[in-house]
Amino acid sequence: MDFELTEEHRIFQDAIRDFTQKEIAPLVDEAEETNVFPKQLFKKMGGLGFLCPRYPVELGGGGGDKIMDCIMAEELNKVNAGIAASLMVQGGLSTQPIYRFGSEEQKQRFLIPAIKGEKIAAFALTEPDSGSDAASIKTRATRDGDGYIINGTKIFITNGPICDYATVAAYTDPTKRGEGINLFIVEKGATGFSVSRKLDKVGNRSIETGELVFEDCRVPAKNMIGEKEGGGFDMIADTLISGRITYGSRCTGTAQAAYDLTVQYAKERIQFGRPIVKFQATRFKLAEIAMNIDIMRTYTYRVAWMYDQGKNVRKESSMVKLFTAETLQKILSDSMQIHGGYGYMMEYPIQRYWRDGRLFTITEGTSEIQCLIIANETLR
Ligand SMILES: Cc1cc2nc3c(=O)[nH]c(=O)nc-3n(C[C@H](O)[C@H](O)[C@H](O)COP(=O)(O)OP(=O)(O)OC[C@H]3O[C@@H](n4cnc5c(N)ncnc54)[C@H](O)[C@@H]3O)c2cc1C
Repeated sequence: MDFELTEEHRIFQDAIRDFTQKEIAPLVDEAEETNVFPKQLFKKMGGLGFLCPRYPVELGGGGGDKIMDCIMAEELNKVNAGIAASLMVQGGLSTQPIYRFGSEEQKQRFLIPAIKGEKIAAFALTEPDSGSDAASIKTRATRDGDGYIINGTKIFITNGPICDYATVAAYTDPTKRGEGINLFIVEKGATGFSVSRKLDKVGNRSIETGELVFEDCRVPAKNMIGEKEGGGFDMIADTLISGRITYGSRCTGTAQAAYDLTVQYAKERIQFGRPIVKFQATRFKLAEIAMNIDIMRTYTYRVAWMYDQGKNVRKESSMVKLFTAETLQKILSDSMQIHGGYGYMMEYPIQRYWRDGRLFTITEGTSEIQCLIIANETLR
C-alpha cells in the first residue's frame, strides 16, 4: 500500500497550482461580478494539456489518470468553484461519453477540439420536470431519414449559454424507461437549438448556467453516441461514476481554501485581548476541520486509484460524493462561525466559498440519491 503521490503527480500538482494562482485567481472577481466566464481559459488550458489531463496524448490529453483529474479539481476549487465547475464539465460529463463510446469521427470533430479548448462543451440531462429521476426525461429524438428530430427543454445546464455543442440525453424509444435513452451531440447553430435564458444563481456565479430548448431540432444520425438506439442511460451512469470521484476533490479544494482563510482570520482577529485562535472552542473546530479534510482527500484518492485499476466503483463513487459534500457543509458552517459577522460581509472571501459549496450536495446526484445508490449496492 502506497499513499504517496507519484513524482509525475507531484510535478503536475505544482504546475496546476502555479497556473491557478497566476492565471485564474486574477480573473475571479470580475467573473463572479459579471456572471461571465473568462472563456480565454479554455484555449489557454487546452494548449497546456490542463483541460483534460486523463485523456490520451494522441487525442490531445495529458495521458494521465483519474488521480490527476482529482489533483486538478482540488487546485481549481481552491481558487474558484464556478470556474472549476465549467472546466470540469468540459473534461468530464460532456466529453466522457464521446471518449468512451463515440465514433472515430465524433472524436475528431468534437472530442479533440474540446480537449484543446477550441470548442466548449455542455452536458444536458436535467429537465424542468426531471432531476433526480433522470429516466423520466421527456426530450424525444425521433428518427427522420438520415437524422433525428429532437424536441425538449433542458435546465440548469453548466456552460449552456457559451457552449459550441451539448451532449444531450433524449428518448429514442420512450416505451423503454431508462433503456430507450440515447445521447446526441447537438451543435450550436443547429436549427431549432437555442439558449432560452441564462440563470441567475446564489453561488458559483462565474459559471454560465442556462436553459436549452430543442424545437424540431434536426441532428444528423452520425451525431448519436453509440452504434444503436438505446443504451444511453448506461453511458450516463458511466460518466456520473467518474464525475462523483472528481466531486470529492472539488469538495476537498473548497474545504481546504475555507480552512486556510479561517486559520488566517482566527490568528488576526483579537477579542478579549487575544487572537481568537487561542480559544479552545476555535482550536477544536479547526482541528476537526483539518481532520475531515484529510479524510476527504485520502478517501477520494483511494477511490480514484480503484477507478484507475478498472474496479467497479459505483458504490464507492457515491460514498465519495456523499461524504465529501456533506462534510463540507459542516466545514463551511464552522468557518463562517469563526469569521463572526465579518464572514457574512461580501468583502470577506469566506462567504463565496460558503455560497459555492452549498451546491455540492445537490448537483450530479443529490445526497439522498447517493444514499439510494449506496443502499441499493449494499443491501441486496
Ligand atoms: C448550478 C447547477 C448546475 C447544474 N449543472 C447541470 C448540468 O450541467 N447538466 C445537467 O444535466 N444538470 C445540471 N444540474 C442539475 C442537477 O444535476 C440537478 O439539480 C440535480 O440532479 C437534482 O435535481 P433537481 O434539482 O430537479 O431536484 P429534485 O430531483 O426535484 O429533488 C428535490 C429534492 O428531493 C429529493 N429527492 C428526489 N428524489 C428522491 C428519492 N427518490 N428519495 C429521496 N429524496 C429524493 C432530492 O434529493 C432533493 O433533496 C445543475 C444544477 C445546478 C443547480
